Amino acid sequence: MAMQAGLDAHIVIVGCGISGIGAALKLTQHGFKNVKILEASGRSGGRIKSTSFGNGIVEIGANWIHGPSKENPVFRLACEHKLLDDKSMSEENQAVDVGGHPPFVPVFYSSSGKRLGPEIVEPASQLFSSLLKNSQEFFGTEIEPYPSVGEYMKKEIMHHTAQWKDDAETKRLKMAILSTMLKLECSICGSHSMDLVGLGSFGSYQTLPGIDCTFPGGYESLIHAMMKGLPQGIVSYNTPVKCVHWNGSFRPTQPSEPTYPVVVECENGEIVPADHVIVTVSLGYLKQYCQTFLNPPLPLHKAHSIKRMGFGTNNKIFLEFEKPFWDPSCQVISLAWEDESSLYDATPDVKKLWVKKLFGFTVQHSDERLGHVLCGWIAGHESEYMEELSDAEVKESVTEVLRRFIGDSTITPKRVFRSKWHSDLYTKGSYSYLSVGCSISDIDNIGQPLPLPGSNSRPFQVLFAGEATHPSFYSTTHGALLSGWREADRLISYSTPSVPGTGNLNSKL
Ligand SMILES: Cc1cc2nc3c(=O)[nH]c(=O)nc-3n(C[C@H](O)[C@H](O)[C@H](O)COP(=O)(O)OP(=O)(O)OC[C@H]3O[C@@H](n4cnc5c(N)ncnc54)[C@H](O)[C@@H]3O)c2cc1C
Repeated sequence: MAMQAGLDAHIVIVGCGISGIGAALKLTQHGFKNVKILEASGRSGGRIKSTSFGNGIVEIGANWIHGPSKENPVFRLACEHKLLDDKSMSEENQAVDVGGHPPFVPVFYSSSGKRLGPEIVEPASQLFSSLLKNSQEFFGTEIEPYPSVGEYMKKEIMHHTAQWKDDAETKRLKMAILSTMLKLECSICGSHSMDLVGLGSFGSYQTLPGIDCTFPGGYESLIHAMMKGLPQGIVSYNTPVKCVHWNGSFRPTQPSEPTYPVVVECENGEIVPADHVIVTVSLGYLKQYCQTFLNPPLPLHKAHSIKRMGFGTNNKIFLEFEKPFWDPSCQVISLAWEDESSLYDATPDVKKLWVKKLFGFTVQHSDERLGHVLCGWIAGHESEYMEELSDAEVKESVTEVLRRFIGDSTITPKRVFRSKWHSDLYTKGSYSYLSVGCSISDIDNIGQPLPLPGSNSRPFQVLFAGEATHPSFYSTTHGALLSGWREADRLISYSTPSVPGTGNLNSKL
């Protein structure tokens, strides 16, 4: 089969999120001349998406650099492009290990409008944190006392709290706090319930040191900086890919032209021939179009892993206020529903009770310059249902909750705005997690290039990147970026073999 060799290879990247951009940058900087990105939407960045709200910027998608320290490539890039403030870049900030959770001290309110004191909040949150840490320790041990993190946490919480000597009222409040913490974990994992998150593989997610930080100019400032490094015109926007036809011998137009093993068929009828295609679409998108996105279809073990792995929704509801009703030092307002003493992180009636899945609000901005903005967090099917409601309905429900918990009937947001990641046609949710019955070999399967090893066909026709293909940093921007680099490196090693005696010349570029 004639084909483009070496740096002349035609490479198509499907998706212009951070993994696709990262792959394109590595390939073009390495000297590949024919790299193209096909992006379904009208913008770059995918799940990195910032917008103005109030007088400042809010993040519709990714919020923090998790673990901003030297090992984190997103942190390194952000520093290189001078996108962070001095505190975030300081050695002290990088040295602190917070174990994956932003070190916020929440202020808890109960559904009867009481502010809960540290004597109630601290024992509950300490118990939760220590059990959550224990739940990560089953990874690699082959021992899994329960299938899910949720079941393990609930059983252990019941066991430990049985020994508490509190009066009934105090115990009820502590249990309500523990329910809220389960809901917070649902938001962190992007899962409907912690009962869906696999226990044995939970510890596969690795954290990096550094206190999580944000981008003063928006996460998207990183995307803009990265895009400047790409050749002009490399991205075709508003060009959804319908199907990747691989393992063929496609001749574009002229008989004199070479043949290509892959052609990418776009929704608009455009056909793009390629030697290699890097697919970076979300796991949510792959789940929906698993049967039709590739022709020949995905090998069964890959399709099964795509089905098995978890991909859920986490949304944000931004509220702008004329004046803050919270203390200047407050970072998080957490909600404890007093009737939730039986530990539940999924509501029995999504339509009626969706708002109970909100675990609380982070304070986004609270100053005269940027305005007073809270961000409510909601995961799961409740979050997906929330996307279907009108702005007025969401505003009314969330205002009612705030008035009830804070005990102030005058609280009225000026403006409400929310993300809708589940109904986003090209994302279909927020991020991936390892669900019950899954292991990191499912992640390996999803990331495995086609054709599979052992085939006589030309290797690396279709490669897979994106956050869901990183074995320890799935669900993050750094996992996504590293996965894009990984696939670019695969093509670099394949297409530009080392010259004997010189090592891989290109790798030194
Ligand atoms: C609410 C929310 C909060 C988050 N918070 C954080 C955080 O604080 N820290 C963190 O590290 N991570 C966070 N994440 C996760 C992070 O945003 C993602 O892991 C990362 O951005 C994924 O990048 P990606 O390149 O893998 O995928 P994407 O960004 O989804 O890029 C894929 C691209 O493919 C395009 N596409 C899809 N289908 C097609 C098609 N058929 N044809 C062509 N193009 C297509 C999409 O439009 C998209 O642009 C958050 C995500 C969400 C949603």
